[in-house]
Amino acid sequence: MTDSPTSTGTDFIRTAVREDLASGRFTRVSTRFPPEPNGYLHIGHAKAISVDFGIAADFGGTCNLRFDDTNPVKEEQEYVDNIMADIRWLGYDWDDRLFFASDYFEQLYQYAVTLIQKGKAFVCDLTADEMRAYRGTLTEPGKNSPYRDRSVEENLDLFTRMRAGEFPDGTRTLRAKIDMAAGNINMRDPVMYRIIHATHHRTGDTWCIYPMYDFAHGQSDSIEGITHSLCSLEYEDHRPLYDWYVREIGIYAPRQIEFARLILSYTVLSKRKLLRLVKDGLVTGWDDPRMPTLSAFRRRGVPAAAIRNFAAMIGVAKNNSLVDVALLEHAIRNELNRVAERRMAVLKPLRVVIENYPEGQVEHLTAVNNPEDAGAGTREVPFSKVLYIERDDFREVPPPKYFRLTPGREVRLRYAYFIKCVDVVKDASGDVIELRCTYDPATRGGDAPDGRKVKATIHWVSAQHAVPAEVRNYDRLFKSERPDDADDFMTELNPDSLEVLPQAYVEPALASAQPGAPIQFERNGYYCADLDSTPGKLVFNRTITLKDSWAKIESKG
Ligand code: ATP
Ligand code: MG
Repeated sequence: MTDSPTSTGTDFIRTAVREDLASGRFTRVSTRFPPEPNGYLHIGHAKAISVDFGIAADFGGTCNLRFDDTNPVKEEQEYVDNIMADIRWLGYDWDDRLFFASDYFEQLYQYAVTLIQKGKAFVCDLTADEMRAYRGTLTEPGKNSPYRDRSVEENLDLFTRMRAGEFPDGTRTLRAKIDMAAGNINMRDPVMYRIIHATHHRTGDTWCIYPMYDFAHGQSDSIEGITHSLCSLEYEDHRPLYDWYVREIGIYAPRQIEFARLILSYTVLSKRKLLRLVKDGLVTGWDDPRMPTLSAFRRRGVPAAAIRNFAAMIGVAKNNSLVDVALLEHAIRNELNRVAERRMAVLKPLRVVIENYPEGQVEHLTAVNNPEDAGAGTREVPFSKVLYIERDDFREVPPPKYFRLTPGREVRLRYAYFIKCVDVVKDASGDVIELRCTYDPATRGGDAPDGRKVKATIHWVSAQHAVPAEVRNYDRLFKSERPDDADDFMTELNPDSLEVLPQAYVEPALASAQPGAPIQFERNGYYCADLDSTPGKLVFNRTITLKDSWAKIESKG
């Protein structure tokens, strides 16, 4: 399905997996994609999905979908539903292997009891602020909590009462007893459980203590028999803790391998930041077509194959590095060029009257649907006496090298005739509001029998047949290459990320355009109908412009 490398792939993860199979450390491959349902999936997650599902598929293994839903305060069913829809849209399938960390809450509780009984965990009464003060810094060791030496019996009693709801939020935690002097701060007696009296989207009010992500993640992998727990680089420092938990509890140990996080120029990929854009109303929602989320890409008309191809192009590396968003745009154009049918749409219309064209006559001219795909066939486009062309395709006083329409000059109308501008009509303020032209009936289809040439071909729509539409042209959401580097990423927003063209006209074949289906508006870019479209009001999103800056970068290099 994807272009991703097969098991002969030489990236460092596939190499490690192959070695594990050869050495007999594992006899099968089982991975998982573990989203936290606290937001929508973004393009960084698409990379992780392509690694997790792609590697499992390459080695004939399986990949689970597991929601790491340990924080009831930030998680919602809406996110669960959208994450599943997005993964399916991307083209991946977890079959019947859908899991939730919350399904393991009872098991995790028992693991915690085991650690208490071994003297490896204790109930701590320090407040969050005190705990921070005791933790030490990167250069100084921490200090032991005064509650660290509570007896096993006292710890079991307090932990049972924590579960029973006897204590308010924040008053007690269960902590692992590891080493307050450890160089790795994650090992300084980390919190395993906290008290949160909140309703969980799946377990309701069954629990008022919830495991920390770090106490749930590794054990969940273990419970599911994951062989290769693939995750992004920021979890490298957590690996010793995950290993410590499974070793001390005495359960099966998966192997964790970290890979580089996708960092994309002109983009932010943190769910916390994306949520802020949504909450503050700077975008219309998680699926606003300017967002880097998969639902936004889908709405904007980006094919799933383009995202899979992009993930294959960037591959998996060990170290984080910035990926140029132009590479993603290149992958999108490549795919759209292949699959998008061509249509004519006039975004900033200028009225044209063909003086010598018979009043009331309509001709149906044949237009090619996709020059890249002969199987896409042709369609008929109506032509009549009054047309619209783009304002930009006419200049009363042409600048040098301007070959399009100008008084006295002849150009070709795509699939139609040569026309010549013979007069210009202006309004009271001197703005051009209409062109008077003549056409040459001998040039039907676009060529002159006498061999005379024109230097430009422009697109058009027939005024009486055209369908009015609103067109939304999107640009990058951020104006700077690394918005995350700013003190506040919100200051880096591009004020011109959306241009609305309220009075465009599209050819009649577009009246039934399906939301999300890719179309090329000839000469204007790739577009698709938006979800906001109604039969009475068509709305189109620009997916991407036609110009490919990445192809240029590559050919220079
Ligand atoms: P964010 O920082 O955007 O909130 P997250 O890591 O908290 O992301 P999770 O839902 O926990 O989001 O992520 C699920 C999986 O996706 C994790 O295994 C994580 O490593 C991976 N992932 C998240 N962001 C990226 C990224 N930018 N590049 C590659 N993988 C990512
Ligand atoms: Mg996370």
